[in-house]
Amino acid sequence: MTAKALDIHALRAQFPILDQQVNGKPLVYLDNGATTQKPVAVLDALQNYYRGVNSNVHRGAHYLSDEATGQFEGARQTVADFLNASREEILWTKGTTESINIVAQCVAREQLQPGDEVLISTSEHHANIVPWQQACLATGATLKVIPLHDDCSLDLDAFDSLLSDKTKIVAIGHASNALGTLNPVKHMVAKAKAAGAITLVDGAQAVAHFPVDVQDLGADFYAFSGHKLFGPTGIGVLYGRRELLDAMPPYQTGGEMIEVVTFEKSTWNQLPYKFEAGTPNIAGAIGLAAAIKWLNRQDRAALEAHENALLAHATEHANAFDGLKIIGTAASKVSVLSFLLDGGHPADVGMLLDKQGVAVRTGHHCTMPLMDSLGIPGTVRASFSIYNTLDEVDRLFAALEKVKTFL
Ligand code: PLP
Repeated sequence: MTAKALDIHALRAQFPILDQQVNGKPLVYLDNGATTQKPVAVLDALQNYYRGVNSNVHRGAHYLSDEATGQFEGARQTVADFLNASREEILWTKGTTESINIVAQCVAREQLQPGDEVLISTSEHHANIVPWQQACLATGATLKVIPLHDDCSLDLDAFDSLLSDKTKIVAIGHASNALGTLNPVKHMVAKAKAAGAITLVDGAQAVAHFPVDVQDLGADFYAFSGHKLFGPTGIGVLYGRRELLDAMPPYQTGGEMIEVVTFEKSTWNQLPYKFEAGTPNIAGAIGLAAAIKWLNRQDRAALEAHENALLAHATEHANAFDGLKIIGTAASKVSVLSFLLDGGHPADVGMLLDKQGVAVRTGHHCTMPLMDSLGIPGTVRASFSIYNTLDEVDRLFAALEKVKTFL
């Protein structure tokens, strides 16, 4: 199916932050892997909530509380529909980091034994390494790591040989934040499940780029952050399969997550509230739902085609650019271009790009073990989103030509 042409200028106009000068130059925002910008629909949803609805949820004693509860639980249903899950399986969290920590604490630390193994990959974000590392330290289990091929795709033969009946948890990023590599998570989840392991997919870098269906993926847990999906910061999601969530102990305790409290004993609320102690991020949830509803109104196939065109154009420029080396050349990638310039430390390149209004991220991108495995301190990362233009890609490379003259 061919995607309809995208009216990129109409789309961009919905992101007011993009229309500004930085260091005297029009802003070229290419740091979408770190966080995405927010459309007016999200900004309005946040304003409308605080101006007209603000109240605590699940207290039910008055009109505004009922209204806030309706919008907050409606937002949960929006996320459930977005992932093809049911609402009891959608937990609100602060973001991907907290989502993974919930599983590391309430599954890994509860169930792992000495001799058990947790399997991750070399390209994981620290948020999908450290919680497992700590759980292994606490339980005597072992952390195993899938190596990469030269193009930075996962070595699936190595994955097969690392997988065994000792593997209790497999936790893999859907797409690498540092390099953009797309991992074959559906295939890996199926293999992991056949080996009897619990599976978690870190979807932080996936959900903004293509539709995700957790039933189709088959993963037990799926984590993402609202702010990387055109929504607010401070709100994220953990999808968990109901049987697993039911069997897990609470993550935090306090108000909201209880059924009955006495000084002798407390019992837990039903799903999903068992995992939501205290007043939640109500506005954040409503803002995230507004982002998802906004995205659902767009032609997602056209957006995906546009992002692919941005990456193809950037890759073509990069291949023709003297002294530039792309890091991560796998065939299957989301729209991220990570690279090094001869004679230029990534931090210096980033600073010189910023002077020309071009915002990129530089450094290890919270993937120190990946950078170590590549023998580099970091990269320059241009991460594209739906509102970027081919002209902005050209401006990145024109700016890099200037950077070269300073190196
Ligand atoms: N996982 C990946 C792949 C990421 O890119 C990020 C953030 O960059 C995270 C996890 C952590 O997300 P957050 O900081 O929103 O919790």
